[in-house]
Amino acid sequence: MYIYIAIVATVGIIVFLSAAIYQHKQTIRLLQRQNEEYLTVHEELAAQEEELRQNFKELYLSEEIIRQNDEIHRLVREGANDGLWVWDIATDSKTVSERGWNMLGLSEQPVTTKESWKREIVHPEDLPQMLAEMKRHFSGQTPFYQVEYRAKTAKGGYRWILSRGKAAFDGNGQPLHMAGSYTDITDSKFKEERIRHMAYYDALTGLANRERLTESVKLTLEANRQKGGQGALIFIDIDNFKLINDTYGHSWGDKLLISLGSRLGALANKVGLAARLGGDEIVILLPEMESYEEITGYADKIMRVLEQPTTVNGHVFHITASAGIAVFPEHGDNVEELLRNADMAMYSAKTSGKHTYRFFDKSMHDTVVEKTLLEARLRKAIQNNELRLYYQPEYNLTTGQIDGFEALVRWQSPDYGMVPPLKFIPLAEEMGLIVGIGNWVLKTACAFNQELYKICQKRLRTSVNISVVQLMQEDLVQSVKEVLDETGLPPEYLELELTESVLMEQFEDNTRKLQNVRAMGVRIALDDFGSGYSSLTYLKKLPITALKMDKTFIDDIAIGDNNVTITGSIIEMAHELGLVVVAEGVETEEQFAYLKQKGCDIIQGYLISQPLSSDEFTAKLQG
Ligand code: C2E
Ligand code: MG
Ligand code: MG
Repeated sequence: MYIYIAIVATVGIIVFLSAAIYQHKQTIRLLQRQNEEYLTVHEELAAQEEELRQNFKELYLSEEIIRQNDEIHRLVREGANDGLWVWDIATDSKTVSERGWNMLGLSEQPVTTKESWKREIVHPEDLPQMLAEMKRHFSGQTPFYQVEYRAKTAKGGYRWILSRGKAAFDGNGQPLHMAGSYTDITDSKFKEERIRHMAYYDALTGLANRERLTESVKLTLEANRQKGGQGALIFIDIDNFKLINDTYGHSWGDKLLISLGSRLGALANKVGLAARLGGDEIVILLPEMESYEEITGYADKIMRVLEQPTTVNGHVFHITASAGIAVFPEHGDNVEELLRNADMAMYSAKTSGKHTYRFFDKSMHDTVVEKTLLEARLRKAIQNNELRLYYQPEYNLTTGQIDGFEALVRWQSPDYGMVPPLKFIPLAEEMGLIVGIGNWVLKTACAFNQELYKICQKRLRTSVNISVVQLMQEDLVQSVKEVLDETGLPPEYLELELTESVLMEQFEDNTRKLQNVRAMGVRIALDDFGSGYSSLTYLKKLPITALKMDKTFIDDIAIGDNNVTITGSIIEMAHELGLVVVAEGVETEEQFAYLKQKGCDIIQGYLISQPLSSDEFTAKLQG
């Protein structure tokens, strides 16, 4: 029993142990499997971790690239001289870089719309062009959009901007975005403008130049051909301008031109165009003129505007001008012809005594040819001794005697016969021949006086006309002195005659020269008094000894109008100033009587005698 029990117990234990062992083994196997799984998971995790690390690294690198790209974009935006812009067309939102805004003096406004850009920034005159260029680009006609326009700045001014861009299109060819740049081209625009200005405007006066005038006249003629209107070209030339340039230097002449140019420019701007052709030649284009009266009205205005005293470097100049007018289409249907004809008319005004204007007429063509011939012959006339001096007696009303004479030059030409001084003196002045002629006249007249003295034992006063050109010569005083020394004529028997306009031209300088002449004892007469300014204020300041009343005052005596009293008053006033009064061009007994009654001192005129040759004069004095 015990054994049985023992066997059963042993078997039981063995079974139990076997079961336990089996269990244990099972557990160990499970554990082993689990361990293997853990290992696999661990390996997977490790692999994933590596992958994550890798991903993280890549992410980090991408961020870095993005950051760097941003940095580069920022640098591009900030470093570029141009402003950059992007336009999202669908939403119409436009982003402009800071530089773009700064260009216009505006602080950064990150977003705007194209619509407001057009309305608020682009100059209205440039907007149509901008829109047209955009349309061309969107329709594929241009590879780029490019346009120049004025953009409004914060201060309300404008800067010239070059906008350039390119659009991106969708599959249907519709524009989606557009990006581009703004370049400030204001400076180069100004340069361009300056160059354009230089090509069309005169650098000295700022008036239009010949090219601009030519273009304007062409356009006007074309327009007038269609409408059938008329207009005019007025060709203006300053009187004695060359003389001013030669005497005072070009810088004075330039200043004078600037001043006169600005006056003419202001006058012309309202109706047409003033252009300087060069030198002292200014042309005014009047594109639409109803009538000759209207043109005359403008010509008068021009003359008046130029007559106003002009101050240069503190000196007052009294300028006059001569002008010629060509009316179109009557006097020409092209620029060249009109200018030539207006120029010719201007010459005609010059030769008829300057300070006036003339309308062109066909006979002037002959006059110009004639003038050219005259010029050539005048040069020869001096070499060939063709000049003659005539002497017109001056009759003293108090003593009833001839007590002087005026020397008057003539040209005894083999081609033209006896040429009167008014025909060739202005030409001689223009050609620079007058100084030589003037000196010859002075010397011949003084020598004639000495001869008369020898023959008749009478001392007469010798009056010699002095041209503006002679007066302008620095050595005038010296020349007079030399002639007196050479001929031996006592200075008090010489009288120089100067016209009013000549004296007024350069008052201070002329006064100084005349004072020096006076200091030698030579007399000075103011010629043609009453034909020009007749300013009493000036008269008082001038170192003159005599007043020669212009023939017009004497002519009126016969008609018996108001001037009769004026003539009387002039005599009275001149006497108050201590001047000797000479009446020129006395032709009738009536004039003689009136002048004598009014106390005039000296008369000169056909009533007493015409100008005489030296022989005739000597004979008259002896007879
Ligand atoms: P002017 O100095 O006023 O000379 C007077 C002019 O009137 C002279 O003309 C003379 O012949 C003219 N005359 C004199 N009495 C009468 C008269 O009763 N009736 C009329 N109808 N005329 C009279 P001329 O000789 O033709 O000289 C004209 C101008 O030429 C002069 O005007 C003078 O300005 C200028 N001239 C003459 N000789 C010279 C000269 O040697 N040098 C300069 N620079 N100019 C001169
Ligand atoms: Mg005279
Ligand atoms: Mg006179």
